[in-house]
Amino acid sequence: MSTLNQQYEEKVRPCIDLIDSLRSLGVEKDLALPAIAVIGDQSSGKSSVLEALSGVALPRGSGIVTRCPLELKMKRMKEGEEWYGKISYQGIEEEIESPADVEEKCRKALGKIARSWLSISEELISLEICSAHVPDLTLIDLPSITRVAVKGQPENIGEQIKTLIRKYISRQKTTILVVVPCNVDIATTEALKMAQEVDLGGERTLGILTKPDLVDKGTEETVVAVVRNEVIPLKKGYMIVRCRGQEEIKKKVSFPEVIEKEKAFFKKHVYFQTLYDEGHATVTKLAEKLTHELSHHIETSLPRIEEQIEEKLEETQAELEKYGSEPPSDEAERRVFLIDKVTAFTQDAISLTTGEELKCGDKPNVFSTLRREFGKWNTHLDRSGEKFNKRIEKEVEKYEEKYRGRELPGFINYKTFEVMVKEQIRQLEEPAVINLKEIGDAVTKAFIQLAESSFTRFPELVKKAKAKIGDIMRKLLSTAQSMLRTQFKMELLVSSVDRTYSSSLSESKREKDEDKLKGKNIVRNMDNHATLQEIMLHIKSYYKIASQNLAYQIPLVIRYHILQESAIQLQREMLQVTQEEKDMYKLLCQDYDLDMKRTALQGQFKRLMEARTCLAEL
Ligand code: GDP
Ligand code: MG
Repeated sequence: MSTLNQQYEEKVRPCIDLIDSLRSLGVEKDLALPAIAVIGDQSSGKSSVLEALSGVALPRGSGIVTRCPLELKMKRMKEGEEWYGKISYQGIEEEIESPADVEEKCRKALGKIARSWLSISEELISLEICSAHVPDLTLIDLPSITRVAVKGQPENIGEQIKTLIRKYISRQKTTILVVVPCNVDIATTEALKMAQEVDLGGERTLGILTKPDLVDKGTEETVVAVVRNEVIPLKKGYMIVRCRGQEEIKKKVSFPEVIEKEKAFFKKHVYFQTLYDEGHATVTKLAEKLTHELSHHIETSLPRIEEQIEEKLEETQAELEKYGSEPPSDEAERRVFLIDKVTAFTQDAISLTTGEELKCGDKPNVFSTLRREFGKWNTHLDRSGEKFNKRIEKEVEKYEEKYRGRELPGFINYKTFEVMVKEQIRQLEEPAVINLKEIGDAVTKAFIQLAESSFTRFPELVKKAKAKIGDIMRKLLSTAQSMLRTQFKMELLVSSVDRTYSSSLSESKREKDEDKLKGKNIVRNMDNHATLQEIMLHIKSYYKIASQNLAYQIPLVIRYHILQESAIQLQREMLQVTQEEKDMYKLLCQDYDLDMKRTALQGQFKRLMEARTCLAEL
């Protein structure tokens, strides 16, 4: 690895470090980062390649050893600097004292993450190795593709692993390292198939052939053709490496020694020597290629990453604004926060009932309902009046027919007709109450809607406001209703001495006299007729005034109680809540989902800000 020159020292390391720190910030959740993922069928030599690259022994054995993604960060140190290792997972960070401890620490981490031997986890273990003998490179090792479940493992373990692998290799910024042994037919390997599924043109796939010493006699030329990219062409081509075999592991052959032996192996090999000469062989060459590959990849993606971070930041900030500010945790500050919220709400409630513009966005329109309902009421009164007048006229006609030319009997007097008018007025009472209830419902609904939009995110506060609205409206409706009924009782009391009544009567009389002058009325029995006409006029005026009173009074009662009083009481009671509430925490506790979402967004925002700082420092 001595070929890594000064230029790398200056350019490569900072690039890789940057991406590593972005990854450790979790920016990968927000946008894709350049990465190299290693995949392979079981026993293809994946771990052996990683070991050779990192110079440390990694957990291995039969079955699925790597049960979660393992990020292997390698940092090249200057000759003479001390070896340094660190493992982090689930927020735990542990130093590793010597290369010999790596395997054990990894096993422990795996055991903690994927608790049973049978399961797969998506959580990442991050292993950092700093040494003078490693390349500057970060790789993500993924569980081996298994076809058959080991005893006790879930049937779908193979599918679980594939899902995990797909998650990594389908990212467009990920280079896929496919590890394939020389002693199998490369075209049939599951790993290459998976890579081809997500990387159709082979743009970002690199093949690594292992176990060249175990190649079947007679197939060497095919292997050479594969490495030369002549069989299954890949844009990034192929490399061939020889790692520690089972024998060498047993004998504990050291990694520097393995490197030497590998070099010697290729140099001597009849078929593979040319591959060595062409720069397609050995772990050392592979390390160089990968480092170059990664840093180049990072360099070309940096501008876009920067852009993406800015875009994401903006997006996140806009999203966060929608969620509004968080209530303070301090008790007193929390109360101030509550007072502000409640004040805004009650002001809107008052504006709602006075028809002014609301602060909160969507405004329920109470006034259109009010206009509609009062309109209905007036039409109802008019119709009822017309109907009544017709009825009275008919009645009078009947009397005229009956008593034509005769003396009116004593019992037919004003009272008889008065009963009729009272009955008619009484018929208006229920429609008036219904009118009141309908308006009451509309206003209640509007208040509730307002509470919901003013206190989104605070379900307890909404609940409280709703309860208050319910109570207030119930009480006011009942008061208003009894007032309406009193109003009707009063209308039924109207006496002929009432001044308005007299004036209305003289008005009606004047109209009638005018009609008379025009000769409209043909008089048969002057005396009786005059009396009946007089009564009719009285009755009509009575009804007219009562109806006018009701047309005016009923909406007034409704307006006063249902609109004005309700908003004032709501304001009073809600402000009382802000002063008397003991459990400030509970009242302002937030909708759980929204709270989670905001926390996530805040995390994302923080991450992206840090990422921006990282980029700026580069
Ligand atoms: P993995 O399951 O893909 O991680 O495969 P391993 O790295 O554990 O390798 C499986 C077996 O192949 C181990 O016994 C290794 O020692 C052996 N092996 C790996 N590479 C080579 C090689 O280049 N030559 C020889 N002879 N054996 C190798
Ligand atoms: Mg392995």
